[in-house]
Amino acid sequence: MKICTKCRVPKPATTEFFYRSRHRLESRCKQCRYAVNRAHLRTNRHKPVVLSPTLLDRFWSSVQKTERCWLWIRTKNSDGYGQFWNGRHLVAAHRFAWEILRGPIPEGMNVLHKCDTPPCVNAFECLFLGTQKDNAYDMIQKGRANRNPPSGDNHPWRKNPELVRRGEFHPMARLKACDIHLIRAAYKRKHGVTKEIARQFGVNPKTIQAIVARRSWKHI
Ligand SMILES: [Zn+2]
Ligand SMILES: [Zn+2]
Repeated sequence: MKICTKCRVPKPATTEFFYRSRHRLESRCKQCRYAVNRAHLRTNRHKPVVLSPTLLDRFWSSVQKTERCWLWIRTKNSDGYGQFWNGRHLVAAHRFAWEILRGPIPEGMNVLHKCDTPPCVNAFECLFLGTQKDNAYDMIQKGRANRNPPSGDNHPWRKNPELVRRGEFHPMARLKACDIHLIRAAYKRKHGVTKEIARQFGVNPKTIQAIVARRSWKHI
């Protein structure tokens, strides 16, 4: 057991309860540490970002320079753009590069890529300022537009069927799996009196009709 220096609650000395810093565990428990972090973010959110040498070091150590492009090698978002924590917010790496090398980005303007390489942060050669419209036009010109929006076999539900919440796991479900068997059996017995069954289960007759026709709850 290890006593947290903040809340004084003894907790098991494992990484489940304490963050690890280098080779040892921190003195404050995860819960207290998280609260401090959040308070810090709350009070500093609106203050301007300080471009300290360590911050710039951290930025440039994530960049690998090639002949023309300077490629971001750390975290990227789903579109491939670099992500950088500037001490206050998670920002796009190429936008941050523009701000430290070329100056502030006017409101409503986007930083776009000439080289069509999203992780590139070369503000001198590859990046230029443009509007959202320029970006869309540029995207179609360079054939970067999403021509295959998710549908059919590409849809996330088809790709990861185990993640879809079916039946009683659906947040809007009012019936349970065991009710479905009862409803279908009752429908067979009473030969199609949905109103009475619906009243019994506290749902709409249409719901019962859908269940017995197997338009809903088909996996049961
Ligand atoms: Zn604590
Ligand atoms: Zn480039």
